[in-house]
Amino acid sequence: MSVDEFSLIDEYFAHRQHSRRDVELGIGDDGAILTPAAQHQLVVATDTLVEGVHFDRTTPPRALGHKVVAVNLSDLAAMGAEPCWLSLALTLPQIDHDWLTDFSSGFHEVSRYYGCTLVGGDTTKGPLTITVTAHGQLPNGRAITRHGAKAGDWIYLSGNVGDAGLGLAATQGRVQLPAAHLQRVVEKLHYPHPRVALGQSLRGIASAAIDISDGLLADLGHLLQRSQLAARIDLNELPLSLALTETVDTDTALRYGLTSGDDYELCFTVPEERRGMLDTALAHTAVKPICIGQVIGGRPGSMQLSLDGQAWQMPEQRGFNHFGDDHAVSE
Ligand SMILES: [Mg+2]
Repeated sequence: MSVDEFSLIDEYFAHRQHSRRDVELGIGDDGAILTPAAQHQLVVATDTLVEGVHFDRTTPPRALGHKVVAVNLSDLAAMGAEPCWLSLALTLPQIDHDWLTDFSSGFHEVSRYYGCTLVGGDTTKGPLTITVTAHGQLPNGRAITRHGAKAGDWIYLSGNVGDAGLGLAATQGRVQLPAAHLQRVVEKLHYPHPRVALGQSLRGIASAAIDISDGLLADLGHLLQRSQLAARIDLNELPLSLALTETVDTDTALRYGLTSGDDYELCFTVPEERRGMLDTALAHTAVKPICIGQVIGGRPGSMQLSLDGQAWQMPEQRGFNHFGDDHAVSE
């Protein structure tokens, strides 16, 4: 395949980018020239979606374009960064113009919404694989990391967990849902909304944060491991949608909420003395984080789960394996 035939970045992506003033030179040269704000640090995240591992042929290409950007912005959000620039590496089995039109629409919609822009990319021929690198920035020293939690900090979730997992189960025919619920959870699976504004609001308030890509237990486990602490979680506080609670029994709903991934909510910890700052910071937003437990001393990464005041058995499976064999857990 000739280079010309495969210079699709220009055809489908370059002309649709809005410009940011900090992009001195975007797509079209050997590299982009970017001007970070003074006194800011860069935060860089990369995520790959592979057909047969992270999605299958039934996934709409517009959803793939949306999701590959959204999952990267979710990582930036978890660090408290403002998303700025994206680069795209696209490996395609063949040139399919309908696919590219839909994929690039999803890609542009979400990147425009969050004010970030594509500054470079590459296309090659091979098994369908989509990699995006997102570059964000934040004021020097203001990043939120996984390792800052302290014993006594409160643990919050930014929204419902388990819906994307339920959506995946529904698209695979493993559960039957009423039409209204089905549409909502499949939408959440395919078009996740990263918590970009929340992440930036949490600078100086959250002691640690992570986004929920692999399931609450797995991801909160990462945060606790990095902080060398444990947690107690009150499952009565776990935010679950009606789609879950009206469709499956309590134990199953909790398992979805705790172990299914792809929700892209933020899980973060807040010291007691900053809880008022959190309420103030979010008073005029639609986000109402739920406190689900507390950081405690104990075996790093371990969690005590309780329901109605009774210990609740930890599910054996710590994170769903979406399609097929073990794959690298995204960080
Ligand atoms: Mg992450």
